[in-house]
Amino acid sequence: MPRPTTSPHLRAGGRARRAALVVAIGAVLLVGCGSSDPDAASTEASTASVSATSTSDDGAATTTTSSPATTSSGPVDVTHLPVGDGRWTTTPEAGYLYTCRTTFDGGGAQQRGPWFNDDGTTWDATKKGVVDGEVAWDHQFTTEVAGDVRRFVGNDLPDHTTGEFPIGADDDVRAYDANPNSISEQVLSIEVPATPTVADQPTCLRGEVGVTLTGAAIFDAFDAGGRDAVAWEAQDHCQGHPQERGAYHYHSLTTCIADPGTGHSNLLGYAYDGFGIYGLRGEDGEELTDADLDECHGHTHTITWDGEQVEMYHYHATREFPYTVGCFRGTPIQQTLTG
Ligand SMILES: [Zn+2]
Ligand SMILES: [Zn+2]
Repeated sequence: MPRPTTSPHLRAGGRARRAALVVAIGAVLLVGCGSSDPDAASTEASTASVSATSTSDDGAATTTTSSPATTSSGPVDVTHLPVGDGRWTTTPEAGYLYTCRTTFDGGGAQQRGPWFNDDGTTWDATKKGVVDGEVAWDHQFTTEVAGDVRRFVGNDLPDHTTGEFPIGADDDVRAYDANPNSISEQVLSIEVPATPTVADQPTCLRGEVGVTLTGAAIFDAFDAGGRDAVAWEAQDHCQGHPQERGAYHYHSLTTCIADPGTGHSNLLGYAYDGFGIYGLRGEDGEELTDADLDECHGHTHTITWDGEQVEMYHYHATREFPYTVGCFRGTPIQQTLTG
């Protein structure tokens, strides 16, 4: 099975050890989060965000049963979400994922869960299986602006509890996605433009798209097979799970970050081009859909940015594929700090 060997946006390193770093920008060997073979190391659709595997032993795992986090409200029928399988494009297009990846090697969940509808084209987010567990982590995450740069430093362990990974033998979702990976601490060290600008042309995605203010990474909407990772893969009660090197990540907006209020959603994360990623609500406080957003899944209007009112491009999460970022509207970072 091909393994990613590239850019260390997130670099694995146990608390007591530091893994060697492999830097090879541009490689796009991509395989999926889950694995059809429970004994195999599961792999992730990404630009290879991590460079080494380490297993964290912190966090006492307990098993609980969680309910699906997504509820039905707003303009999107979450009981009939179109499955985004194959909705990739080599030219930016709204509702699609503009991906640098043009081959998909397979991998990921091994079987459709019962939350797929009988129509064969939609899935029901209210029925999505949830990975059991409530595991707490030693979260570390800081952000700062220094001159033209916004810097994130952390360990990719979220500020919320996660499910228990590897997925337990008695977890009902294991029948559909036997993700054998453990969550482990990473070295997350990222610098993006503090005040990004729109580029002449959008840039395609390679897997990682940004970081959430929970301290954990956001990946794009695909698994290794070019399938809708949110529809297919088993995630926990915060919509996250680990890839083969232990990096915990989301493929959609986590419900474990607060976005209170009635107006425009809050800033909930940053894409790797420096633009903000906001929640579901637009300027009028109404939930947005793909139809409200451009081909990169964003739009431009006045927002509060580092305490100032500025007219600026930004992304929004939606309940629909591609969920967060469809392409980079600005200029994404080419590599992160190597530490
Ligand atoms: Zn994943
Ligand atoms: Zn907006």
